[in-house]
Parts: sequence; C-alpha cells; structure tokens
Amino acid sequence: MTTPLGREIAELIATEGPIPVSRYMALCLGHPCHGYYMTRDPFGAEGDFTTAPEISQVFGELIGVWAASVWEAMGRPNPVRLIELGPGRGTLMVDLVRAATALPAFRAALDIHLVETSPVLAARQRETLSAAGIAATWHAGLDTVPAGPTILVANEFLDALPVRQFVMTEKGWRERVVGIAEGRLAFGLAPDPVPSALIPDRLRQAAPGAAFEACPACDALAGGLANRAADAPLAGLFVDYGHAVSTHGETLQAVKDHGFVDPLAEPGEADLTAHVDFESLGRAATAAGLSASDVVTQREFLFRLGLAERAEALARANPAAFETIRSGVERLVDPAPSGMGALFKAMAIHSPGLIVPALHLPA
Ligand code: SAH
Repeated sequence: MTTPLGREIAELIATEGPIPVSRYMALCLGHPCHGYYMTRDPFGAEGDFTTAPEISQVFGELIGVWAASVWEAMGRPNPVRLIELGPGRGTLMVDLVRAATALPAFRAALDIHLVETSPVLAARQRETLSAAGIAATWHAGLDTVPAGPTILVANEFLDALPVRQFVMTEKGWRERVVGIAEGRLAFGLAPDPVPSALIPDRLRQAAPGAAFEACPACDALAGGLANRAADAPLAGLFVDYGHAVSTHGETLQAVKDHGFVDPLAEPGEADLTAHVDFESLGRAATAAGLSASDVVTQREFLFRLGLAERAEALARANPAAFETIRSGVERLVDPAPSGMGALFKAMAIHSPGLIVPALHLPA
C-alpha cells in the first residue's frame, strides 16, 4: 500500500472484511492522524483545490447580504448564532462579517460559531479571524453550539460527508465496498441485499449497473437542524456542487494537485468528495419538520444577491485590481456545465414560514 493510511485500511479489511465506501471515505478524510483534512491546508494554487471564497471576496460578502436579510426576516433577534460548518481558511466568515458591518445592528447581534474537525484548519481560522478582529467560538460538532435563533452557512461542506454507494445487479441492489484484490485496495459489492427504503421510490427500478448514492450524515445534519429549530428560528444555507434532483449515478471523486486521481490510490493524500443530492437533503429536512427552499444555481443565486453591482463597486474602489476582480467573479458564475456557476447549487433549509431571499424559483 502506498500510504500509512492505506496500510491501516488494508489491515482493517484483513480482520473485518470489506468496508462500505462511506467508511472508506470517512477514514480518508477524517482519520485522526492520517485523514486528509487533519494534516493539511489543502486550498489555493499550491494546494489541491480552490473554493469560491478563495477566488473572490465578493462570494462571502454576498452571503453576508443573504444572512442580513434572513436576520431581518427573523425579526432582528439579538443575539443570533451565526454558524459556519467546515470554514476552511476562515475567508468566507471574514468577508461575510465585513459585509455585515454595513448593518451595524446586525453585526452587533452576531454570536459567531465555527464547526471544524481539523486542528490544522481550526488554527488557520483562528489566525484569519483574529487578524480581522472577529471573536468566535470553535466546536467539533453542531451539538455544542448554544441554542437560539440561528443563521448557518456551509460552502463545500456537504461534499466532504461520506456517501454510501448502491449498485443494481441481476440480483437486486447491493452496497459497494472497498476490499483487497491482488494486494491492492479494490472496489467490490457486499453480498447482502440493500434494504429498499434506502433507494428513493422513483429510482428503485433500474437496469443492472445503475448506481445510487446516499448521504446518511447529510440526513442526520437535517435532523440536527430540526432540533435546533424546535424553539427558535433557523435558516441554513448550503452551497455545493451537486444535483437539484435525485438521480442514478456515482460521483465519488478524488482530487490532488488540481486534478482527478484514482480514489483508492493514495488514501489520506487526496481529497475525496461526492456530489450533493439536494433533493434528498430537502426531503430529509422536510421529514424532520423543516422547510427546504428551491435549489438555485450558484450563478443565479449570486446575481440575485447583487453580484454585478457589488463587483462594479469593488472595481471602482480598486481600479488596479479590475482584471483580478473580473476574472474571479466570472469564474464564480461560469455557466458552462462543469463551471462553478452551473455545477454549484444553493439551497436553504429553514423554519417553516421564514422567508429566505434569492432561493425561490419563479412559479
Ligand atoms: N468552506 C470552506 C472549506 C471547504 S473544504 C471553503 O469554502 O473554502 C471542507 C471543510 O470542511 C474543511 O474545513 C474541512 O476540514 C471541514 N470538514 C470536513 N468534514 C467535516 C466534519 N465532519 N465536521 C466539520 N468540519 C468538517
């Protein structure tokens, strides 16, 4: 095996048998010593990939505009818990708070909580926020964030949550597992039938070879948000790559040095993600008693929040950076099928009756 984590996973499989893809993904990303996020800051040109807040400050600022408008819709609660899940380098939060200062009462009401499992990235976030003079509290999970009115944001967080993969065979649905073949990690299928409730009704009938991915941690998160919303208003914004409607297909991918690699080749050394199934997330939220907004492309979402005006104002204030600002913003809203404007979607999960801006499609 090529990596220390690969050797550890091989030993695990040797004693316990093949493991579900979800367990493999959880170990690759979150293993306490060798997990991908536990050991590095993966962002930027020198890292493995670049995210929207690292491309342009306009992204976080517009999310600040969204949050301010949600706060108004909630009746201006003070304090309001502003929670970010998986804050990366802390860039989005700093940009969001800068935009929030335009509404001083909103800024004053913010009680900021960051949920982060990686010690390396939590340290990086502390640096970024303290340099910007922003006070915050860190948590390993959502459970320890104090109750109260909540505005939550999460960019490229859900794609890091482990997915289970199911594959249709001549004998019915089976779960994909990671085992060992010829001394290497290899995909296989577990022998047991998959309980049919795990596949949405509409997708259960399928030709052999069809695949479906489920994200139990996404469903659990929706349940956690519903608990928080039981006695206080809540709105959570999720921006990520994925599909608006549940569909067949497999999207598990590994990225290293800004390119795709074999997900089994270097466990712990490449980022592993899966596309977000926004319909399933919305269904889990609704089942837990919350509402889900429409699913809007990142392009549509950012334009509705005033992207064009914000980018223009920024360029006017900083003419020397015009080209950088323009190319960054264009990348965020790139409408090509694999561009960030189209592949990335935004959706909110919120208390029933709350009006969230920019996330409703025309009827
Ligand atoms: N939102 C940031 C970073 C996205 S990368 C940005 O847009 O730049 C994913 C982030 O989620 C990282 O900070 C990673 O450490 C964190 N993360 C991954 N799994 C997590 C989990 N289960 N709980 C909390 N944070 C997690």
